[in-house]
Amino acid sequence: MHLSHILNELAEDRAQYFQSVAPPLIQASNFAFTNFSDLREAFADELAGEYLYSKSRNPTVDILRQKLAALEGAEDALALNSGSSAIYAATVPFLKTGDHVVAVRNPYTWAWKLFDRILPRFGVETTYVDGTDTENFRAALRPNTALIYLESPNTLTYELQDLRAVAELAKPRGIRTVIDNSYASPLYQRPHALGIDVCLHSAAKYFGGHSDVIAGAVTGSAADIRHIFQHEFSNAGLTVPPFHAWLILRGLRTLELRLQRSSETALKLVSFLKTCPEIERVRYPFDPDFPQYDLARRQMTGAGGLFTVVLRATDPACIERFTFALKHFLVAVSWGGHESLVLPMAAGLGPDVFDPTVERHRMVRFYAGLEDADFLLDDLRQALPLLAS
Ligand SMILES: *Cc1c(COP(=O)(O)O)cnc(C)c1O
Repeated sequence: MHLSHILNELAEDRAQYFQSVAPPLIQASNFAFTNFSDLREAFADELAGEYLYSKSRNPTVDILRQKLAALEGAEDALALNSGSSAIYAATVPFLKTGDHVVAVRNPYTWAWKLFDRILPRFGVETTYVDGTDTENFRAALRPNTALIYLESPNTLTYELQDLRAVAELAKPRGIRTVIDNSYASPLYQRPHALGIDVCLHSAAKYFGGHSDVIAGAVTGSAADIRHIFQHEFSNAGLTVPPFHAWLILRGLRTLELRLQRSSETALKLVSFLKTCPEIERVRYPFDPDFPQYDLARRQMTGAGGLFTVVLRATDPACIERFTFALKHFLVAVSWGGHESLVLPMAAGLGPDVFDPTVERHRMVRFYAGLEDADFLLDDLRQALPLLAS
């Protein structure tokens, strides 16, 4: 399916809504029935029947679901109220007491908290592995391993997993594979095509694209999506509100353009920062010096706007000075919006914890937004001298 068709046309049946060019926002909690048999069918199957109740399905959300599924090349999709609920929905419905999970180490915070704090209460144990070597997944498998959780690349240091190799390891053993594909987006990485079972996204990032909505997505086979829908998704009420779905639909119109722009700018900023004496190292999967550059080029077609620098800083004060001297990078979490961002890892440490020998403590994550590259480069040039202590 052509990307232009997915982003501009798919699932948009204008005859249903006065030929309106923009999709309708159906802000309704419940839907009325005109005959008994439709009502009976909706009760029997909320995923396939007529619209019944917006906690389950909603026409605006369904337009988004079809586009999300097509973007990932999946049979079906669910749109959720956050990326964190997408992590929950993509994993918990496939786990039971006594199961074992193998997860890539240092996954997104709320994935880690799910595996570390919540699932052990229900007798599900997780082993974390260095995912840069597929052998580590093989070595961690147990007879009760039910799920492998991936995040490739992650969103601070960008370690990759060889998705095809992990899928080939899991499939014959009946182990379900799940990936957080937020970093690359389906435009730059298609995990289902490499054999991964379930993909999830934080839609607050590239899909929304304007820093004004929280949402999530899960894609997979029709059977897996039905299983999720009929279990935790409906029970916990994880669906996205219609207005948020509408905002994501609007964001998708420009997804391709925004990703192109962010990627081009990120590469320019990375090239510049690599020449700066104040910077020890830059990490970006599409930089030829990135340790897994070959794998990145093999399984991704782009790398987006997120990259990390390791500063040559000896104390957190100079990191603070540098970060807040930037005039056109907002100091904020998240990424994928219009605005460029900067986030110093040192801010997550207590004042006495900073250790300059720990590379992670000197990491500052950048996100290249939609501003002009030279506008941002000039800003970096004026702020970098403040790193000298
Ligand atoms: C932001 C993010 C999430 C969580 O999404 P929320 O919508 O904030 O819950 C999950 N994974 C990654 C990689 C993210 O960056």
